Amino acid sequence: MGAHQPDVVVVGAGVAGASIAAVLARGGIEVLLLERQREYRDRVRGEYMAPWGVVEARALGLERVIRSTQAVDGRYRVAFDELIDPSVAEGSKRDNSTFLPDVAGPLCASHPRSCEALSEEAVGMGAELVRGVAEVRVETGSRPAISFRNGTETNMRPRLIIGADG
Ligand SMILES: Cc1cc2nc3c(=O)[nH]c(=O)nc-3n(C[C@H](O)[C@H](O)[C@H](O)COP(=O)(O)OP(=O)(O)OC[C@H]3O[C@@H](n4cnc5c(N)ncnc54)[C@H](O)[C@@H]3O)c2cc1C
Repeated sequence: MGAHQPDVVVVGAGVAGASIAAVLARGGIEVLLLERQREYRDRVRGEYMAPWGVVEARALGLERVIRSTQAVDGRYRVAFDELIDPSVAEGSKRDNSTFLPDVAGPLCASHPRSCEALSEEAVGMGAELVRGVAEVRVETGSRPAISFRNGTETNMRPRLIIGADG
């Protein structure tokens, strides 16, 4: 990276950070995306994107990216429970496609696969992704500063630093 300063540094390449990096890079902004994990671990979270999240992902042009991970639409909801007879539970089946127009329901996807696909999308749009970063330090201000280690220490003064570390 040398003396080059990106416009924006995003700390954390989860669903939020990778998405914003993809959208900014697509808009011609120079983005550096920092992720501490070398490989996304499955921590069993974020598998269920609510219908209003699907609307946001669509508006951002990222729904297709999440769908590419073999995501499935959760069209119906049946609340099975060990205390409820299955036939009774099935009787209360809810159609999730009735919440919002043109949304079949929540979008259910593997969280690590979504993070991977979204960060690949960010890179495809021109963002630089650095994995395995450690010791991220941020100095706030009108011209913020950030430093991190990835083998060696890097110091930068981008125009904006976005914390998307969960
Ligand atoms: C048990 C559980 C289940 C959940 N289920 C759902 C669900 O079904 N639906 C839903 O919408 N939400 C769910 N959530 C909330 C879910 O975690 C968030 O919606 C989603 O993961 C938030 O995405 P994010 O990108 O903001 O944060 P995260 O997914 O936490 O991503 C943050 C990223 O930043 C990286 N990072 C952190 N610190 C640093 C650092 N210092 N430097 C560099 N990188 C860093 C992390 O490695 C990670 O990749 C669940 C949460 C939990 C705990």
